[in-house]
Amino acid sequence: MLSIGVLALQGAFREHINMLERCGAKASALRLPPDPEAPLGGLDRFDGIVLPGGESTAIGRLLNVWKLMEPLRKCAFSGKPIYGSCAGLILLCRDITGPDGQPSDQPRIGALHACVRRNAFGRQIDSFETTLNIKGVADDLNAVFIRAPVITSADPDVQILAEVEAGGSSCPVAVRQEKLLATSFHPELTNDGRLHSYFLEMCR
Ligand code: GLN
Repeated sequence: MLSIGVLALQGAFREHINMLERCGAKASALRLPPDPEAPLGGLDRFDGIVLPGGESTAIGRLLNVWKLMEPLRKCAFSGKPIYGSCAGLILLCRDITGPDGQPSDQPRIGALHACVRRNAFGRQIDSFETTLNIKGVADDLNAVFIRAPVITSADPDVQILAEVEAGGSSCPVAVRQEKLLATSFHPELTNDGRLHSYFLEMCR
């Protein structure tokens, strides 16, 4: 059985744990300080890691406080499967901007070769749901967006799995770069486990 660690410092981690268990994995909350003796600070015991939604600035700061940032970076850069949803996507990205496009210096893992714009949908449509066609996952996935980011640019090695219209252009909201998977939306808040199952396949 696959063992998945769900970062549980802040945000929607319980929903990910429930969904992963429904999809047949063993999921546990990850919040312990790293074990300096163990490979990857002890994160090697997981077959994959999930970074939940929440507030990316808060989670980033807590990662530094709990000394989890470096072990997570090592995981991300060494090919351990990681799935980030919403704030988790932001934490994975190399470049981060605010809604105004100004660069942010907030802490991040930075392994995903992409630039993300936080809170990209503005106040009018702060939160919304839509049905998405996600390459390799499903052509009718119900996606919940909550103060969601979008990818504004990405290197060629980043595969775009789904896009939505934002500000007159198509913006990626689900991407994959080798063993990194990231979505702007929250599949853990629906009853549909297909995106989590796709991630578990990546962990096999
Ligand atoms: N707006 C949040 C951020 O910038 C992300 C929102 C979410 O995870 N639902 O971190």
